[in-house]
Amino acid sequence: MFHERPIFICLLSLFLLLTGCARVTEPTNTPTAQIRTPTPSFTPTSISTPTSTMSPVPSLTPTSTQTYTATPYPTPVEAADVIFYNGTLITIEDSQPVAEAIALRDGLIQAVGSNDQILALQGSDTKIIDLRGQTMMPGFIDGHTHLLAFPDRMGRSLSEAQDTAIQYGLTTVNEMWADENFLNTLWEAEQKGSLHLRVNVFPIYNDGNLDESRQRILFKTWYPAHSPILDPERFLRIPGIKIFMDGDNYSPSRGCWAVSEPFPPGAPVLGRGVCGTDRGDLYWSQEELNQVVSQAQAAGYRVAFHAMGDRAIETALNAIEYALDGHSNENYRHQIEHNSLARPDLLPRYEELDVLTSVRGYGDFCDLQFFVPEFGPDRYTWYVNRYVLPNLDIHAYIETDFLWTFDPAIRFTRITLDPIMQLYGIVTHRYVNEDGSVCEPDPLAAAHSISIERALQMLTIEPAYAVSMENYIGSLRPGKYADLIILSDNPYSVDPGALKDLRVWMTMVDGKVEYCATGNESLCP
Ligand SMILES: [Zn+2]
Repeated sequence: MFHERPIFICLLSLFLLLTGCARVTEPTNTPTAQIRTPTPSFTPTSISTPTSTMSPVPSLTPTSTQTYTATPYPTPVEAADVIFYNGTLITIEDSQPVAEAIALRDGLIQAVGSNDQILALQGSDTKIIDLRGQTMMPGFIDGHTHLLAFPDRMGRSLSEAQDTAIQYGLTTVNEMWADENFLNTLWEAEQKGSLHLRVNVFPIYNDGNLDESRQRILFKTWYPAHSPILDPERFLRIPGIKIFMDGDNYSPSRGCWAVSEPFPPGAPVLGRGVCGTDRGDLYWSQEELNQVVSQAQAAGYRVAFHAMGDRAIETALNAIEYALDGHSNENYRHQIEHNSLARPDLLPRYEELDVLTSVRGYGDFCDLQFFVPEFGPDRYTWYVNRYVLPNLDIHAYIETDFLWTFDPAIRFTRITLDPIMQLYGIVTHRYVNEDGSVCEPDPLAAAHSISIERALQMLTIEPAYAVSMENYIGSLRPGKYADLIILSDNPYSVDPGALKDLRVWMTMVDGKVEYCATGNESLCP
């Protein structure tokens, strides 16, 4: 799906006639918002720097109807296509965290503000939706998923997989695995216009499995033959590559988490015969990895590392440090996925290198004593450090790590696609058992709380940042794409234990309603 939008920037004074327009053209991968601002001095919200991307565009011809008179709020140049008002808008913007109303035009957010400010943008063709106090926020973004890979294994189509995600309020997914065949499938879907949510794909550089002699298997099917795809207009983007650092503790072909000190004698994982060594399976030497990450970075790719054990994490951090060579990761955005055993002395290194991290939101943290025999009495506490990461001065986003050995319709299962369950999990650290009972977290996990505010960032603007889309999606700000959801209640006002009962009533992607829950049609334009 390609979005042809005329992009232009108009400069006009508040109460005067339109005086002129300027064309701005920048490289497509510059992370600035493409924005069509009604007027720079109309400030119901913070309006970001008006710049644009893409090709030359027609200039806007002033018309005789564009005359303005002094009013409390300026009359817009262009009327909104859609206005939602009388709501509780959670914007995920520091400058204006809440608002009452939002105006949309051409699939973009036109303005965010008070009812009066936004209703002033009403024109004769504007659809007006009364939210009746309902909560609206940016669409959820899954920072690490396998949603679109292999739905056919469960008898589902790509289209059904997307629909499931959209019903859960997801408007963008970061797909953390792709081979050439899967890329081609997504490519065709984009060409046919059958991608209904934004997809950022990370092709694999090496396989997640080892060969018979426990050596890594290189893929290199996309990079280095191609450049990254960073164009924010595209529904299919390829911002980075995925590198597997270590195993998963479950299958011999993947091996075990790479740990710095041997698993304790008698550790269950050793008994399962999964590990290549008693320190797990590290797929890369430091020297090899340093070179690969440097080369990928030089080609414009960020690297997402699957790293679970502390030795895998440390090796990835070292490689990031080597590749950055003193430069800021702000420019590159290398990221470490899972972070399952974050050793305490590594935590300052995440901060020093400004490394992005994925954190599972919903998981069973009720009886952590289970991990003592696996990792030892000291190291099992590292398992909880995932809940320390989001409160460090780094970027962190929620991963579902959803894959099609689980049923996406089951919300309470160990691997759930539902971002509402991820929100509930990361805020409360509670877990819903198979019988529906709820268990309280281990005191160690309970001690590391994540605020609702931080959790919502981790489901919106943070995963957008991870793929350099933070100026286009992930918050309610003029100029961003109209990727929005309406919730059944306000996450800030419900009891944390009731967060799991929130439901999504509408999902809009790119200004288009892609899901409208039965009975809530009046909320869907
Ligand atoms: Zn994964």
